[in-house]
Amino acid sequence: MSQLYSVPEHIKAKAKIDNDGYKKLYQQSIDDPEGFWSEHGQRITWFTPYNKVKNTSFESGKVSVKWYEDGTLNACYNCVDRHLANNADKTAIIWEGDDPSVDKHITYRELHKEVSRFANGLKKLGIGKGDRVAIYMPMVPEAAYAMLACARIGAVHSVIFGGFSPNAIADRINDCQAKAIITADEGRRGGSTIGLKANVDKALSDDACPSLEHSIVCRVTEGEVEWTEGRDVWWHELVGEVSDECQAEVMNAEDPLFILYTSGSTGKPKGVVHTTGGYMVYASMTHEYVFDYQEDEVYWCAADVGWITGHSYIVYGPLANGATTLMFEGVPTYPGVGRIGEIVDKHKVNILYTAPTAIRALMAKGDEAAKTSTRESLRILGSVGEPINPEAWEWYHRAIGNGKCPIMDTWWQTENGGILITPLPGATDLKPGSATRPFFGIQPALVDSEGNIQEGEAEGGLVIKDSWPGQMRTLWGDHERFEQTYFSTFKGMYFSGDGARRDSDGYYWITGRMDDVLNVSGHRLGTAEIESALVAHKAVAEAAVVGYPHDLKGQGIYVYITPVEGVEVTDELTKEVRNWVRSELSPIATPDLIHWTTGLPKTRSGKIMRRILRKIAANEYENLGDTSTLADPSVVDSLIENRMNK
Ligand code: ATP
Ligand code: MG
Repeated sequence: MSQLYSVPEHIKAKAKIDNDGYKKLYQQSIDDPEGFWSEHGQRITWFTPYNKVKNTSFESGKVSVKWYEDGTLNACYNCVDRHLANNADKTAIIWEGDDPSVDKHITYRELHKEVSRFANGLKKLGIGKGDRVAIYMPMVPEAAYAMLACARIGAVHSVIFGGFSPNAIADRINDCQAKAIITADEGRRGGSTIGLKANVDKALSDDACPSLEHSIVCRVTEGEVEWTEGRDVWWHELVGEVSDECQAEVMNAEDPLFILYTSGSTGKPKGVVHTTGGYMVYASMTHEYVFDYQEDEVYWCAADVGWITGHSYIVYGPLANGATTLMFEGVPTYPGVGRIGEIVDKHKVNILYTAPTAIRALMAKGDEAAKTSTRESLRILGSVGEPINPEAWEWYHRAIGNGKCPIMDTWWQTENGGILITPLPGATDLKPGSATRPFFGIQPALVDSEGNIQEGEAEGGLVIKDSWPGQMRTLWGDHERFEQTYFSTFKGMYFSGDGARRDSDGYYWITGRMDDVLNVSGHRLGTAEIESALVAHKAVAEAAVVGYPHDLKGQGIYVYITPVEGVEVTDELTKEVRNWVRSELSPIATPDLIHWTTGLPKTRSGKIMRRILRKIAANEYENLGDTSTLADPSVVDSLIENRMNK
């Protein structure tokens, strides 16, 4: 039994919503979705009000999702202009550089000016409503300006992770037929520079991207770049002689706001399309309630803007709410392992939202990460991206949150637009490792392999029974694949691809991706559970579990482990870890092979790529699939070299 963390008094005292409030609103959102979303749609400023609220169908052959379809609005106007009347001098963005001595505060007034000018620059190049624009930027304020400027003129942005390779860039440009790309000379991360423009040049070479007309380059490091006349244009020159005013385009609620290619943990990237009205309502509402955002708080989501979390919870959600959002250029471990806490102290951060991968990286250094800061300003913590192991949860709570900050373990996907299953700070008693309960309007269910809905305490495939405003509308240019991927496994329901368990309190526990589930001697085992047991061992910093073909059991358990810093790996230790899992979890879950490694293959958003680990464990090196989205592809070679033999 895991420990229950009840809502702390100091959180309860000012929280926007308590447990009774949650229950009441949730019930209302399910009993009367039309009424609920009609009311909460008002949190956004509309140019023309909507009369229709929900028009959605999950039915095979005619899946269609529309919200607020006769309303008009502009996302950028909601994030910027509407705050000018009362909050023009409030800080919109705090930017913290990779170099700890560099930072910048941007007010809403300044944001309005920068965004309007750049929007005018884009127009000058002939970019307008409906055009697709790729953004390949480091974590600098201009990345947010670029997104908002596109939204302002009705261009559809597609942000590409700053770490992706030229091939990955070209694929994404071609898939959506982008007309322009916005990039930088170089980016900075962890004390080194990355040649972003050079990568773009490679992606565009040999006429590999025929749709692309303009490459706009922001000067960040002043590093040397090559130049193609006619195609390349400097950002600062483009905005040299433009007006500070740019009327925000009137967009229909269902006009696309952006395309975002999923991180690719499971195969060919998918061009997820989000539209304007429903997305803005859902992103802003979840941001306010999940983090209990209070006026004048400093909020920091430590994700990259190239990830959906960065879209919804660095840019659109917080700015729509008039919040102060912190943007960090660097990495959590540079110049030292205390960096996160130091940033919290420096900018008096109240809310910190990060990923298990970052938490485990810090945890691997003992309590070092907490030594150089007090983190007294922190009120609420968040986690997203992977199941957070109870061990990592407890550490985050104690070492980073000083034992007083509730952790919002938020489950959601690129496809969802915003958080779907999560605690709320003032409402939910927490269980480490559980994402707890659905957000308003979300109807999760667990299904068996035939699609039968399981009631009460149960385990199964995690589906959502009805639409919510932030849901993706289609896959860019491929509605059939959209239906096929999300609505064909279980008819009439959105299938997330993840598995989950629901306990006797109705709390959800994400067990990992369904295609990662192991079948050992007829027993189904979730990877998350075995990995949590492993991470609970004092020598283990991070673990990834996959199955491999096993003559007797069907599947054997192959375990990759990154040891805690300073731990010496011996045969004794391997034996100890094996016995540990056996006694902590079950003899069935005992690892067959343990592979110690200094690194695991991860996506840029920090997710372990089990697809690749499975191939290595199975001795199938030829067909590793797309590795271009890996943070550090060299990890793969070293894993292959040291593969454990059966
Ligand atoms: P692709 O779909 O291309 O394989 P991806 O699924 O890694 O990429 P994302 O949309 O960024 O891309 O990730 C969503 C997935 O991340 C979820 O389906 C789930 O597996 C995992 N996830 C996110 N948050 C949580 C969480 N709080 N607990 C458990 N798992 C989570
Ligand atoms: Mg996914």
